[in-house]
Amino acid sequence: MGKVFLIGAGPGDPQLLTLKAARALGLADVVLIDALVHRGCLAHTRPGTRVIEVGKRCGSASTSQVFIEKTMLGMASTGHTVARLKGGDPFVFGRGGEELQALRSHGIEVEVIPGVTAGMAAPAALGIPVTHRGVAHGVTFITGHGAEVDWSALSRSRTTLVIYMGLRKLEGIKSRLRAAGMDPGTPACIIQNGTLESQKALVTTLDRLSAAGFLGPAVIVIGDVVRIAAAAAVEAEERAA
Ligand code: SAH
Repeated sequence: MGKVFLIGAGPGDPQLLTLKAARALGLADVVLIDALVHRGCLAHTRPGTRVIEVGKRCGSASTSQVFIEKTMLGMASTGHTVARLKGGDPFVFGRGGEELQALRSHGIEVEVIPGVTAGMAAPAALGIPVTHRGVAHGVTFITGHGAEVDWSALSRSRTTLVIYMGLRKLEGIKSRLRAAGMDPGTPACIIQNGTLESQKALVTTLDRLSAAGFLGPAVIVIGDVVRIAAAAAVEAEERAA
């Protein structure tokens, strides 16, 4: 029997891959890599390692999830060491949990290697602490598609909101937060390509937040903590422009 390493590649910058992830990549016979993962991460593989691109962006295709799981099962059950390389952390909006369950239900050994999630790293790279004593006592990670999100509970929670995959739903998110009583002057930002050289950010307020000019991948950060780093973010934006 082989084994699967379910690996978080980090948010973008390949230097944010963990040492443990790099070591596991060096053991792999085959790597299944997602679209958002920086190709620099493959520098840690051995020569001759097979690389299978399985990425889907804003993906719908559930068949490809089936393909991914089948491929891993086939490889691992014939004695191969498989590295499944996913963006950020494998268990944060990445379907890593489903892959883990599918593999374990077939008796495949899986070792999970956590990664640095974009929702923490992109704000941090702009100098935004997602929690900050006296400003935000917690942070909530949600996705823009989440139909089941309780926006009024979120707006009352006074935690920092970090929204993944929210660009295309931004106008709806804004109006729901406003309807839930959130102050339109609440500091807010969009960070695209966080931690990469191409990082681009808009630091503003909830009412002025606009997805114009952003294509993703991006996270939206809403809360008073955004103000802490506003000056630094503006500089970063000027550098990116
Ligand atoms: N498992 C990943 C998230 C996968 S969902 C993680 O833990 O980070 C993909 C979404 O993550 C993107 O649509 C975007 O919202 C966010 N994302 C990924 N990389 C990003 C980056 N470098 N900068 C900003 N957002 C990013």
